[in-house]
Amino acid sequence: MELRNWPAYPHQVDKLVEQWRHEHPRYIMVDSLTQYLRQKVYMLTVTDRDVPARRKKKQMFTVPHAHEPAGTVGSINFIHQLLTGRHLDGGKSDLDRKKILRTTLISFNPDSNPGGRMRSPVHFWDGTRYTNEEFWAWMRGIDPETLQRFKRVARWSIREEGPLRIGIVYEQINEHEFVEPNRDRDSSLLRLVAKYFRKWRYDQFLSLHQTEFQGRKDRANAMIILPVLQIELSRELRHYNMEWAMDIVGRWKKAGARPIADVKPLGYGEPHRSWFIECWGWLQRQTPSITVEIQNNNRNTPPEKQLLFMDVAIRESVERLLR
Ligand SMILES: [Zn+2]
Repeated sequence: MELRNWPAYPHQVDKLVEQWRHEHPRYIMVDSLTQYLRQKVYMLTVTDRDVPARRKKKQMFTVPHAHEPAGTVGSINFIHQLLTGRHLDGGKSDLDRKKILRTTLISFNPDSNPGGRMRSPVHFWDGTRYTNEEFWAWMRGIDPETLQRFKRVARWSIREEGPLRIGIVYEQINEHEFVEPNRDRDSSLLRLVAKYFRKWRYDQFLSLHQTEFQGRKDRANAMIILPVLQIELSRELRHYNMEWAMDIVGRWKKAGARPIADVKPLGYGEPHRSWFIECWGWLQRQTPSITVEIQNNNRNTPPEKQLLFMDVAIRESVERLLR
């Protein structure tokens, strides 16, 4: 795939979804809700609809953050492989797609905040055009007093704040309020996830993210984060999460990534920890769930690698359902 065709923007995703819906109706179910600013937030469920869903293993993937486009492109590329047997660049996929389609049901939310993504100045962040400080000012917006990056909070209102730029991470949910999709239950992300968890009992939940790995001497460019509630979960869930995480780490190494070997929950301070528990606690207590982070905005991890490492994480997750 040529990088200028990297399908991160909503108009590109919309076009592919229409094409898939038309060409592969047996294998894809398209659902969406409409954001306040009218963009469609998809839940795309890929499975062989001629085989009953009841006994299928089920997985959900989500991409909460507009400044982290490799998760979107990774999801889109994986769906394309399942439907067509080819990667987006036309290369042949060696996935056992027939078996996956017959025995699993996979729901993808490839971009939870297309209204934010639309305001992104680039298709991908490769570290050649923006410093991390500049990148963070795109992500969070610009504070009118400090002229530095705006704060990261679950929710804020333009009745009370006047950032000089509205950060792309934020989703506008009504005429004056903005939410961080991963930290507020009124986001399109949380509403769609809740809707689908009422519909199916998922066996695995994987959240796809990117981060900068700023200031690390070991040049790490990938990591798994365990749930914020990990140490409070049942023994069975703790083991499942850890084993799944280590399998992805192992596969990343083979693919040339430099994952952080030490897999653990991220030590969020308050109020972030409470926001996460409020949004995700119910899910973490019932379903194996982990988070993927691939390096963003750094020359050490160009977009082709970002996509490859996303693909590896998605693939390992799906293939472990077949075992
Ligand atoms: Zn993120």
